[in-house]
Amino acid sequence: MNRNSSRSVFLWLIIFALVLFLIQSFKTLPVNQKLPYSEFKRLLKQGVIQDLRVSEDAIEGTYKAEGREQKFQTVPLPDPKLIEEMDQYGVRSYSGVQNRGWLTSIIGNIFYAAIFIFLWWFLFIRQMQNGGRQAMAFGRSRAKNQATKKGKVLFKDVAGVDEAKEELQEIIEFLKDPGKFQRLGGKIPKGVLLYGPPGTGKTLLAKAVAGEAGVPFFSASGSEFVEMFVGVGAARVRDLFEQGKKNAPCLLFVDELDAVGRHRFAGIGGGHDEREQTLNQILIELDGFESREGVILIAATNRPDVLDPALLRPGRFDRHIYVTPPDLKGREAILRVHVEKIKLAPTVDLSIIARRTPGFVGADLANVANEAALLAARNNRSAVEMQDMESAIDRVMAGPERKSRIISDREKQIVAYHESGHALVAKLTPGADPVHKVSIISRGLALGYTLQLPEQDRYLTSKSELFTRLLVLMGGRVAEQIVFGDITTGAQDDLTKATSLANRMVCEFGMSEAMGPVTYRKPEHEVFLGRDIASDRGYSEKTAQEIDKEVKDLLTKAFGHVKDLLSKNRDKLDAMAKALIEKEILTSEEVNRILGLPPSSKDAGA
Ligand code: ADP
Ligand code: MG
Ligand code: ZN
Repeated sequence: MNRNSSRSVFLWLIIFALVLFLIQSFKTLPVNQKLPYSEFKRLLKQGVIQDLRVSEDAIEGTYKAEGREQKFQTVPLPDPKLIEEMDQYGVRSYSGVQNRGWLTSIIGNIFYAAIFIFLWWFLFIRQMQNGGRQAMAFGRSRAKNQATKKGKVLFKDVAGVDEAKEELQEIIEFLKDPGKFQRLGGKIPKGVLLYGPPGTGKTLLAKAVAGEAGVPFFSASGSEFVEMFVGVGAARVRDLFEQGKKNAPCLLFVDELDAVGRHRFAGIGGGHDEREQTLNQILIELDGFESREGVILIAATNRPDVLDPALLRPGRFDRHIYVTPPDLKGREAILRVHVEKIKLAPTVDLSIIARRTPGFVGADLANVANEAALLAARNNRSAVEMQDMESAIDRVMAGPERKSRIISDREKQIVAYHESGHALVAKLTPGADPVHKVSIISRGLALGYTLQLPEQDRYLTSKSELFTRLLVLMGGRVAEQIVFGDITTGAQDDLTKATSLANRMVCEFGMSEAMGPVTYRKPEHEVFLGRDIASDRGYSEKTAQEIDKEVKDLLTKAFGHVKDLLSKNRDKLDAMAKALIEKEILTSEEVNRILGLPPSSKDAGA
């Protein structure tokens, strides 16, 4: 109910109350004097009563008092001698009144009924009609034409995804001039599926396609199609395609396609009727339109694996484009896009920042640029400097610094040894990723952190590298145990990571000798896919036990190895922890100095 209509309902309620009040007071208007029965009998006996009309529920009449006739009214009591007395005391005329006519009472009732019906109509029916109008709008897709808004996105705003751009070039050419393709009889894909990890720029790419082609861009999110009411999602899909046809040539974009496009007959509790209908509608529309009409559908998802195979069949989303997380050069290019709007000091070298951000996707890098600008502003600098960029990376990786968190000296010591343990293992183990920074300033949930950065992006990891990672993860816990003879909860995250890594080594990468070069499907995955909960995990209970044993052996082996290593290097561990307590942050050069190593060039970008 919007504000206006609620105000008018309120007004009508007041009017209604007023009318009721008037009716009530009109009925009780004192035209007649109201008398108690006893008073009436007294008057009767005085002989001043002139005439009477007696009905079941009232006696009305006139009496003479001080020479004037006065009307009166009273409520009768059972009085069998009344008629006798009326004769006796000289009432001139008396009569009965027909039981208040059924007509009058019906009219009276109708009057009241009418008021109530009116009120009811007013309050409910009108609301429902309004609601009905809204319900109609409900089935309309909320797709917005975003090309009309200012600031349209172009390909130059999307960096580091050159292959995807190349693949989309054809679509752009088509949208620019659908006629050309028709003349040549070429077949253009109707549906393009962009897939890749979150934040890699899928949404941005789709917008850029529309921007480059200069056509309207209608976007809707898959989650908008999954509504409470069955059929609404399907209606919205229909509407989206209708809008598309009306505005051809244009680009339709469905974000988060997995929200509707999941496997049918899937998930807990069997199918999801609404989603299924919506998905069917998408399939129908996809089959029903021809790209020749100049409409192209692009969808994006992070989870192509859960999509219903029907969506991926030829003639539907038959072009699949993987939007990759950016590599080193890609990250630099993306950073370049995002620092365009901020003022950079000449000392800032984006290639170094790119090297320090392996695994960052476009959204993270946009975040880094933004955080750096905010930090520079907070420090009243005239331009963003390298150190702002560095802090921004830490912030994006681990959350903001929490200097306010108060740590007792003892805790600080534990954290320092814990982090030194990680760092020292990484330093002393050949093949480990170089240590970039060690810190005991808490960030986000972590009390401290050791930042290792690979020298380059990795696409393949060897078994020994993975084992090295296990060693580094164990470093914290082992250091605590060696130094304090006790262990804390601080290693929980490390142990979780180590366990999960060891599990993958055994089950997914086939890296355990006892288990052989076999992958073992994990049942959790299946539930996650929303298919069938009761799915067979594909191996026996005995195998499960063997897997558990292998994982445990791997972790125990790593633990023992680290214990030896750190015990032998106790002096270095102490030195590092001491420096860390003092300075709170150690750079890779400082770590090298403490350990008596030459300042190696490979660790530091700067
Ligand atoms: P996705 O849809 O893949 O989850 P988005 O397209 O929504 O990712 O990206 C979110 C934001 O991250 C974008 O608005 C943009 O600022 C930034 N971004 C992501 N990828 C890139 C890229 N390749 N180039 C430039 N900016 C990017
Ligand atoms: Mg997106
Ligand atoms: Zn740790």
